[in-house]
Amino acid sequence: LTEDLYCIGCGAKIQTDDPTERGYTPAAALRKGLESGQLYCQRCFRLRHYNQMEKVSVTDDEFLAMLNTISMEDALIVNVIDLFDVYGSMIPGLHRFAGNNKVLVVGNKVDVLPKSVKLSRVKQWLTEQVQAVGLRPVDVVLVSGKKATSIDDLLETIEEERDGKDVYVVGVTNVGKSTVMNQIIRAATGNKEDVITTSQFPGTTLDQIRIPLDDGHFLIDTPGIIHHHQMAHVLSPKELKLVAPQHEIKPITYQLNPEQTLFLGGASRFDFISGERSSFTCYFSNDLKIHRTKLEKADEFYAKHLGGLLQPPSAEDAENFPPLVRREFNVKVPSDIVFSGLGWITVRKPGKVAAWVPQGVDAVMRKPII
Ligand code: GDP
Repeated sequence: LTEDLYCIGCGAKIQTDDPTERGYTPAAALRKGLESGQLYCQRCFRLRHYNQMEKVSVTDDEFLAMLNTISMEDALIVNVIDLFDVYGSMIPGLHRFAGNNKVLVVGNKVDVLPKSVKLSRVKQWLTEQVQAVGLRPVDVVLVSGKKATSIDDLLETIEEERDGKDVYVVGVTNVGKSTVMNQIIRAATGNKEDVITTSQFPGTTLDQIRIPLDDGHFLIDTPGIIHHHQMAHVLSPKELKLVAPQHEIKPITYQLNPEQTLFLGGASRFDFISGERSSFTCYFSNDLKIHRTKLEKADEFYAKHLGGLLQPPSAEDAENFPPLVRREFNVKVPSDIVFSGLGWITVRKPGKVAAWVPQGVDAVMRKPII
């Protein structure tokens, strides 16, 4: 492109190189857009014509700039969180950017939690989790974007809490924000055409999709940022599909003696170092194979079977897979040991355990979700 062109839908700078980045427009569409004088990026085009929302991500700096603009607005902020990866969903400092604005927390992917789980408890638990990072949500709504569960509740709550103001929907990538937005659009507009309007800030890089509400205000979808410690960065998209649960998780409980190890595929490892024999419940994708070994044999076992018996990573990717880094936890009360983006193990009795995660990915201890 010789001159800078901007999407008249979202204001993103048009580019024809990278479909995953904002402002992407296929070259053919660009020509047509220029001819007709209606140049939309692919994301806005699809939203206009198919009511289909696609994800976009921005850099950390752009994300901060975007949060900054939101902090100056008088609006309701809706923060979408992945229930399966709450830790990886948190936006650092969101409470500061929210300022005096109300924050509504949406726990998405409720369909992956075992059906036996009491949702009122999960709601209470999620409230505590976000309070721990400084958020004071006006409400917490549990939904499934995929199954369209409780989308009407969410819309009703948004309507109640927004006090006739605009609504900004924020979230890091992969929490399912686009999926939830698509359900909202479907429910709120009944598939009317032309749901987006021209950005209020043409030519800026705010890259927001504005969906008109009944009273002249807007529901605004914002781009996400990639959390760098997500499992998404060490696994290929295909492997990620395997570890990201697509269906209700069937927890598996192991009775472990001290000095036993569980391998979570080849992606992570859990050592029960010391304590009384007890049960450990694993919450991972049903497609992730768990292997039990003796702790003293574990290093050797991993070296021998990574990419083979222990997948993901696949055989091709095993060579470049980051080394597992060990974090020790002294469990005093029942706790979840979380392998960020992969799942968690509930430890019920006091003892010493270690979580091994690929370098760059986090492991944390938290109050049990279930
Ligand atoms: P975004 O980056 O936050 O916009 O996330 P996407 O909407 O692209 O979703 C990320 C991944 O999570 C995709 O693989 C979706 O299929 C999946 N996903 C989104 N919503 C749900 C949900 O409610 N349940 C389940 N199980 N998966 C979901």
